[in-house]
Amino acid sequence: MKVTHIEHIGIAVRSLDEAIPYWENILGLKCYKIEEVADQKVRTAFFKVGDAKIELLEATSPESTVAKFIETRGEGFHHLAFAVENIESALTEAEEKGVRLIDKEPRKGAEGMTIAFLHPKSTGGVLTEFCEDKN
Ligand code: ZN
Repeated sequence: MKVTHIEHIGIAVRSLDEAIPYWENILGLKCYKIEEVADQKVRTAFFKVGDAKIELLEATSPESTVAKFIETRGEGFHHLAFAVENIESALTEAEEKGVRLIDKEPRKGAEGMTIAFLHPKSTGGVLTEFCEDKN
């Protein structure tokens, strides 16, 4: 597979409204978009940092995996997202090499990206997302 760069880093927060001022006022980054991803029951806020982005994730339902994550582990680092070329073949290759996949098929993520998650049990504890920009 070909991983080209870190697309974004996902951070779980209880409240976007409470979290955003740190990123804007202390770090001087600009929140350029807030987007709800109904599929994942989250609201996301994005900041650009060079070629990479920070994605803040706020649960919109107690059923959201982000709500469950915060319940057990608290706020903080949630996932690492790599941009890959050809996400379908990257997933096939990972699975063939014994990686447990959360998403066997890519799906739509925030920013119109095509995404899929690998299970942290297979990735050294780091919830890993593959992203391909097919826009
Ligand atoms: Zn993500």
